[in-house]
Parts: sequence; C-alpha cells; structure tokens
Amino acid sequence: MPKLSVVVPCFNEEEVLAELYRRVTAICQTTVGQEYEIVLIDDGSQDNTWPLIVRLCESDPHMVGIRLSRNHGHQLALSAGLSITRGERVFIIDADLQDPPELLPRMMELMDAGADVVYGRRAQRAGETWFKKISAALFYRVLNHLTDAPIPVDTGDFRLISRRIVELLNGMPENHRFIRGMISWLGFHQVALEYDRQERLAGTSKYPWRAMIRFALDAITGFSIRPLRMAMALGVGFGVIAMLGILYSLHSWMVGRVVPGWTSVMVAVMVLGSAQLLTIGVIGEYIGRLYVETKKRPLFLIDKIVRQSCEAPPKNP
Ligand code: UDP
Ligand code: MG
Repeated sequence: MPKLSVVVPCFNEEEVLAELYRRVTAICQTTVGQEYEIVLIDDGSQDNTWPLIVRLCESDPHMVGIRLSRNHGHQLALSAGLSITRGERVFIIDADLQDPPELLPRMMELMDAGADVVYGRRAQRAGETWFKKISAALFYRVLNHLTDAPIPVDTGDFRLISRRIVELLNGMPENHRFIRGMISWLGFHQVALEYDRQERLAGTSKYPWRAMIRFALDAITGFSIRPLRMAMALGVGFGVIAMLGILYSLHSWMVGRVVPGWTSVMVAVMVLGSAQLLTIGVIGEYIGRLYVETKKRPLFLIDKIVRQSCEAPPKNP
C-alpha cells in the first residue's frame, strides 16, 4: 500500500497534463520518496488527454490512468478516482494547477498532528471573474444557512484526506455527489490551511454556468430539506393572515358595507389557500424524510471508543 495517492480529475486538459505531472511528481518525491501513486481520471475528454495519460502510465509505474465511458462530471470523476486509490492518505487536486501541489508537505504535517482532513481555504483567488468570485462567496453563505452540517466557506475539493475518510466516502451510495459537503458531513478532525488560489495554467474553465447551477442545486438539495419545508411556513403565515381577513370580511358583512357574495368568496379563498399550503407542507415533510432515508447514509460515525478492556478497535459500517 503506497503512503500517498494523488487523485486528479481531467476533462479536456491536454495543455496542462505535462506540467501537472512534473510538479505533482516532484512534490510527491520530496514528501514520501517513492511510495506514492498518481491517479488521473479522464472524464470523457474529446482532446488528447487520454493518449497523454496512457503515455505517462507506460513510462512511469507511479501513474494510474482511468478513462470514464463519457463525461460524467467533476464530482463523479473524482468519486471514480477515490474508489480505486490505495494510499494511506489521498491528496485531491484539480488538473489546472490553480491549487498549488507544493502545499502537500504542510498538509501532511497537519495530518501527522492528528487531522483526518486538511482542506485548502482560498484567501485570494487570482484570475477569476468578479462573477465567479461573488457567486461563489454568496453560494457558500446561502448554503450554510440552509444546511445543518456546516460546510466551510471558500473551499474546493483541494484537500488531503485519510484512508478512513476515503473508505467512508466510498461507502456513501448517494447519486448526486457534492463531495466537499459529504466530507464535512462526516466530521472527525478537520483543519483548514489558507492559501492563495492561482490562475488556471492554461485552457478555460470546465465549469460553464449551466454546470455551476447544477452543482449548486446538488449541494443545496443534497444537504437540506429546508426548501421543502417552505410551504409549511407559508401555510402557517397565511393561516394567521387568513384568520384576520375572515374576521374583517365578516365584520364588513355585518355592518352591511359589501356587495352580495364578496364575503363568502373572500372566506372561501382564504380558508382554502392556507389549507392547501399547509397540506403541501405536510406532504413536503414526508417527502423530505423519504428523501433522507433513501440516501442510506450511516446514522452516526464513531471516532474513538475508550474503555478499560478495549480489545477490538471501533468499526464503522
Ligand atoms: N472536470 C472534470 N469533469 C468535468 C468538468 C471538470 O473532470 O465535467 C475537472 C477539470 O479537468 C479540473 C477540475 O475538474 O481538473 C475543475 O475544473 P475547472 O478547473 O474547470 O473548474 P473551476 O476551477 O473553473 O471551478
Ligand atoms: Mg480550475
């Protein structure tokens, strides 16, 4: 078992592969000597990415190449890579070198000191559009309001994770994967390492706005059923307004200030409107629970057990 696996999803990254290979190999060798593997996942690229990966694998036994059958998206490419890693620790990095691989030794030190996850937190983002910066900042803050497990702001998937985190992640069968959220959901000892994000080495972002919206939806719906509860809150709110409205229309009817039929229509609209919202809210609550059940996430995760006669180490499902 190698000490370290590096996982790199690549989608049309022919321009950066050589430099990626050079920099990641150099830092792996200075950090762990020869005990490493670099797993490159070709996520259905249409350019020369796959032939280049094959060539690297033929010339260097540290390299592992995976080609997915078509473009499955960044998060699934990463999941595929994680599922075949063998290292005691796994270093996740993008192909475009926006996140410096040279942070690896510092991440390893933090893990030696007991961390299970060392995630990079972006202090600066060079060469990214205002739109990307503002949308990312807003997105992580909204997401944190909606979800129960805190997801650290301004982080990507750039991180070092321990073997047990990889195993637990591989054991989470959910289809819509938002990996940085799943990792923070797992808990254990997670620490941040601040760094300045660089410009893309070459090529353009592989995340068009359509993919960003899909990604944001996966994150919000994957980690929160609060949107489903909105109907319930609206139902309660409108229920209170409806009561006041009904009293007002009955009063107007009694003092004879209304045209015939107005009162009955008003009362019916208000009663039915709030009853419908409340019922949708109840259905939403059940759908939310069904949804959470279908994810089949572990109920809890055990970090350590202490007792005087401790024979077996804790075992997670
Ligand atoms: N990527 C992928 N499949 C995709 C889109 C992107 O494997 O469908 C990879 C891409 O090659 C890169 C990483 O995911 O290694 C992050 O993509 P990118 O740098 O384009 O995103 P950005 O940094 O602009 O958010
Ligand atoms: Mg990038």
